[in-house]
Amino acid sequence: MRVFTASLATETNTFSPVPTDRESFESAFYAGPGDHPEGPTLCSAPIPVLRARAREEGFTLIEGTATWAEPGGYIRTDVYEALRDEILDQLRAAMPVDCVVLGLHGAMVARDYDDCEGDLLTHIRNIVGPKVVVAAELDPHSHLTKKRMDAADILAAFLEFPHTDFLERGEHLVDLALRATRGEVSPQMASFDCQMIDVFPTNQQPMRSFVDKMSSLQGRDGILSVSLIHGFMAADVPDVGTQMLVVSDGDVSAASQLAEELGKEVRAMRGLTKFELHDIEAVLNIVSTSKRQSKPYVIADVWDNPGGGVAGDNTVVLQAIIDHGIKRAGIATIWDPLAVTFAIAAGEGAILDMRIGGKAGAASGTPTDVRVEVLATAEPGWQSFGTSRVTLGRAAVVRIVGTEIDIVLNTNRTQTFEPDIFENLGVDISTKDVLLIKSTNHFYAGFKPVSRKIFYVGVDGLYPTDPNKTKYSKLIRRIWPMTEASMTSA
Ligand SMILES: [Zn+2]
Repeated sequence: MRVFTASLATETNTFSPVPTDRESFESAFYAGPGDHPEGPTLCSAPIPVLRARAREEGFTLIEGTATWAEPGGYIRTDVYEALRDEILDQLRAAMPVDCVVLGLHGAMVARDYDDCEGDLLTHIRNIVGPKVVVAAELDPHSHLTKKRMDAADILAAFLEFPHTDFLERGEHLVDLALRATRGEVSPQMASFDCQMIDVFPTNQQPMRSFVDKMSSLQGRDGILSVSLIHGFMAADVPDVGTQMLVVSDGDVSAASQLAEELGKEVRAMRGLTKFELHDIEAVLNIVSTSKRQSKPYVIADVWDNPGGGVAGDNTVVLQAIIDHGIKRAGIATIWDPLAVTFAIAAGEGAILDMRIGGKAGAASGTPTDVRVEVLATAEPGWQSFGTSRVTLGRAAVVRIVGTEIDIVLNTNRTQTFEPDIFENLGVDISTKDVLLIKSTNHFYAGFKPVSRKIFYVGVDGLYPTDPNKTKYSKLIRRIWPMTEASMTSA
């Protein structure tokens, strides 16, 4: 048995001003054939999982390229085509194969391709023919298209948001793909369009119970896999929206029936699954009037999340912390390559005037002008995300003079995943009253144990948070919560 694997992934926010080019992939994560690290990354988990299975079971694994760009704006067409063709050439050279397993994200959009994954999967299907098993792991913040459903035999998404189960779902997908290749199961996929778009954190109700239910349905009554495609609202593509996806063993009507049943349950929960957003002034009043404890409060700036494709240089909450007279705070991160260059050039211990953040666009807020001391620099800085390692690129931590407000600055845009983003640069979070982090929900597993309380805060910025105000020019069907008016103006 010969199995080919590769990974090509990013999440495209078509409303973001940050362009995505080849450098965006190479600086975030790029591993040529055979160069993938032993540990998994968010979207490449099938590769290390397949390596382990190949060693145990003695089949031949042929690895192609694995790469990931931090979410950003449109990918340049030639950049997408070159990465696609690199993988297709590797696959052609590997032929004949019995199975193809891909690590995808599912929300990759190039200037001339609304559905990059559909395009990639179709090319792969054309190369391998109708009988070879084609399987792909997806992030639930993706778009499920007919093209993908037609080209693939098995698609499965992470169930958890935060995506703490990306490795487990990689194992799930690989296991199904190998069983299908050996003829032990015959996967049949069906989907149900919930005709809505929403946000579905799974660390709280009602989604916690729904995820448990999806898990419990797998592996019995002929159901092989159940996924909820949450959708990704920051993309102007025809298929934006939430969809239910079910894979059954040989019975497409059973898959379709369960997808409809579960999809209707999701639709009934519309508007009820989001996290509660707090007002920043009210939160800062709590922070500044509370007695000190060894655990800090955590403020998650949920929409200035580079993981959703925005720049990550919004200064509104940082400025509010300063204006509130809060003296002990940790900020991770403000994306500011220029400020990092200055900090590194000035050197550790240097004191200088610095203009921080607020540069990517008017929606990033006003740059914060402060006198800072350079506490530490790193080339590169990094943080963990579960068992994987995420680069910050060249990075620095600067302290606002006269305070203990420490700001982590990075050159490689990334959301905040784990407290070691501070600790790796020498910032002791137990000495802080409050931490400001840039992430929608992936930070939760890492920060929950070290925080006194977590506040989700939403600041208007670059991210299109209200579907009724977002100009979706390509949407081909009406989805909740968009009104008739917003659809016709689109
Ligand atoms: Zn996601």
